[in-house]
Amino acid sequence: MCLPDETIPAEAILGVFDLVDTESHESVHFGVDHKSGLRSIIAIHDTTLGPALGGTRFYPYASEDEALVDVLRLSKGMTYKAACAGLDQGGGKAVIIGDPSELRSDDLFLAYGRFVDSLGGTYITAEDVGTTVSDMAIVRQVTDHVSGLPMEMGGSGDPSPATARGVVSAIEAVSEHLWDTDELAGRRIAIKGIGKVGFSLAERLHRRGVELVVADINTSATDRAASDLGAKVISVDDIHAVDCDIFAPCALGADFNAVTIPQLACSAIAGSANNQLATPADGIRLKDAGITYVPDFVANAGGIINIASGEGGYSTEKAIAMIDRIRSTVANILTKAVELDIDTHAAAVLVADERIAAAKQQEETP
Ligand code: NAD
Repeated sequence: MCLPDETIPAEAILGVFDLVDTESHESVHFGVDHKSGLRSIIAIHDTTLGPALGGTRFYPYASEDEALVDVLRLSKGMTYKAACAGLDQGGGKAVIIGDPSELRSDDLFLAYGRFVDSLGGTYITAEDVGTTVSDMAIVRQVTDHVSGLPMEMGGSGDPSPATARGVVSAIEAVSEHLWDTDELAGRRIAIKGIGKVGFSLAERLHRRGVELVVADINTSATDRAASDLGAKVISVDDIHAVDCDIFAPCALGADFNAVTIPQLACSAIAGSANNQLATPADGIRLKDAGITYVPDFVANAGGIINIASGEGGYSTEKAIAMIDRIRSTVANILTKAVELDIDTHAAAVLVADERIAAAKQQEETP
């Protein structure tokens, strides 16, 4: 937070309540454990549809403000993701401030678990960037309100293959929308980021007869994609501009902005990366460029659906059936965007808002 300072007029000082959009978020909680070094924030955005579900990001934020802004933004995104995915879950997220390679310890995750437990189940945690299914197993020792546990504990395990399966569903919906077929053989798909999700996606598309073009800063990942899947490897600077049917961003976010959008040579975008649009205006830019964009939080919902399916006993069949519904969700959003002549990101937000408003109305009806 900005501290009071004689040189800053009092009205310009930003405090926690200025940063939190109180119209939007239900609550924000701060957890500290001096012994283990835990400094954590849990943001609960909306619980209309059910308890807030969202992972724990463990990251060396440059400042507490940065961590707070991130957890607020991510928790809001989780509300939209769960609502569009048809889950009876709300949106929440947690951050732990610090470098996981230096700060990670059992004591820290136990303290974090007690912090989660203190919220009485309003927030259910899981793994995210910087945390693993094994960390969640430690958290589970002190709270029931954790999902995404290791499979040997009856949990849903690593969500990445489920996320990749969901991206394939999104790609099928795009194909049906643009080309009236879900046959992918012979299509050219470019994947940026051949990590846990990207490689699993590449394997699935390879089995479907897709021609793959890939890029990653990690050359051992691209070498493997080339040797195992016959993928063509190109540079990370050029992948977004490669001539292809579908571009699948599976690295980090903010791939699409005023500079990159005019360079795109794809018909559609569907990938797992979070926050693919640099700004909401880029959704409109993609529409104006004639590119069909599957909103990131819809395309990458397979992981959270898998995690949500883990509550009360994980069943692969149940999870797969729900993940495959991403295809009809994407189809509805693409159709809605065309009908209303709005960009697909706005259409997805509308779908989520409508579901939440309907649930609120039902709650209020005596
Ligand atoms: P990962 O770390 O396993 O893979 C990311 C890959 O991207 C790595 O191979 C990395 O080398 C590469 N990369 C990083 N920067 C790059 C750049 N500038 N250009 C090209 N490649 C780059 O992560 P993941 O679990 O596969 O997740 C991929 C994306 O999907 C992330 O944005 C993540 O937030 C999102 N996501 C993942 C899941 C999941 O289930 N794992 C669920 C929802 C969303």
